[in-house]
Amino acid sequence: MAENKSDLMEKIVSLCKRRGFVFQGSEIYGGFAGTYDFGPYGVELQRNVISEWTKAMNERDNMARLDSSIFTAGSVWQASGHVSGFSDPLVICNECHSKQRADHLLESVGVVADEKMTEVKINQIFDENRGKVKCPVCGKKKFSKVSTRSLLATSSLGMFEEGDEQVYLRGETAQGIYINYKNILSTGMYSVPFGIYQVGKVFRNEISPRQFLFRKREFEQMEMQYFVHPKEARVLYEEWKKERMKYYERLGIKKEKLRWKQHENLVFYAKEAWDIQYEYPFGWNELEGIHYRGDYDLTQHQKFSGVDMSYFDEETKERFIPHIIETSVGVDRTMLMVLLDAYDEDKMSDEKRVVLRFKPNMAPVKVAVFPLLKNKPELVEKAKEIYKTLKKEFGAVVFDDNGNIGKRYRRQDEIGTPWCVTVDFETIEKDAGVTLRDRDTGEQKRMSVEEIISLVKSQI
Ligand code: ATP
Repeated sequence: MAENKSDLMEKIVSLCKRRGFVFQGSEIYGGFAGTYDFGPYGVELQRNVISEWTKAMNERDNMARLDSSIFTAGSVWQASGHVSGFSDPLVICNECHSKQRADHLLESVGVVADEKMTEVKINQIFDENRGKVKCPVCGKKKFSKVSTRSLLATSSLGMFEEGDEQVYLRGETAQGIYINYKNILSTGMYSVPFGIYQVGKVFRNEISPRQFLFRKREFEQMEMQYFVHPKEARVLYEEWKKERMKYYERLGIKKEKLRWKQHENLVFYAKEAWDIQYEYPFGWNELEGIHYRGDYDLTQHQKFSGVDMSYFDEETKERFIPHIIETSVGVDRTMLMVLLDAYDEDKMSDEKRVVLRFKPNMAPVKVAVFPLLKNKPELVEKAKEIYKTLKKEFGAVVFDDNGNIGKRYRRQDEIGTPWCVTVDFETIEKDAGVTLRDRDTGEQKRMSVEEIISLVKSQI
């Protein structure tokens, strides 16, 4: 384990930069808060996260995949309630001028608050606790009044004259699903209960984006809306809850780091809401929300668009507005969890090392291929040939001849590569296969390339 939990985040941030996972957005211009750019291994990790989630969704019957637009008619966000109610409470430190979430400051001194409280209510609670709350940046206790700020990001796309409808960047992918529900049904391929799922970028004007990938302003969501008969909703909701927690086992996440948390203050239309939380180094926090939302979303869109959102059951001849079960999780929060969970420090050959113990399905690189010596053309040639064979099989394979073997192992350990293959003189002179080194145990075995292919296949 990493020796000190409190600096684990710093270690992860620096490893992510050093090894090409994640860079600060607009870094050479001093950075742009709440944005991060993914380097080669970040992109691979992101792809693995999305691919496992998509596979899990697709394993169920009656699931439709969607990719809806980021830009949607402004009325979508009026109907959904985002224009009037999607906001966070802002306070500004009068001393250092940093912007803070009032609900988070109150929570830090043990006062229950919630971002969905009215401006009047949260001001009242904040005023009662002004003496206790300290600015996390400068430590002073002088703050402005609380004012609620919309999380919706705006754009001028397609706006050319006064009176054009205000345009928003989507603040969640779910609305794209609701407004396409009738389109999916009209394909004739789906019947209630059925689900629509999508992965996509969303934008939120977060007041104080921090904790690395945990709270970004531009991030990616993986959301699923399950359309059900109201009578079946409770049973199916429990089923989805079970399924979603089980899913984290296949990502290899430590069980004791995950827990359920029920929402205490439900929004007026919600029937039940639970979050799966992960124990991040800064505390237990939401990873995924699994919510039973009733018929609010479809009813609202019916009201605002004038389109009938009811469903007709051909078998029972019943017409009803389906209820919705939602599962919603961030790609970036999942990536951060996977990185934190995999991070380890140990000793190998009397040397301290950092290793990411990814489950092979999450590892950005599955196999690294080395020639024992860089300056022996016959070794390099053979290693390149094996690298090409493995790359054809698995895609995520790298060729590495930089530095001595020990250095290459350390580098691949930090990237979390489960297997390293070394081509040596025995490989070419005696046709004796290659050595396969296991990331976690450091154990080395001589194996043929075919044996390696079947081993890796069985593990991913
Ligand atoms: P929080 O209370 O932490 O702000 P939320 O309740 O607003 O989160 P949801 O609106 O339920 O979050 O969004 C669904 C999922 O999207 C979250 O569970 C999380 O995984 C992810 N998510 C939300 N906001 C962010 C963000 N700013 N950066 C990265 N991921 C996010």
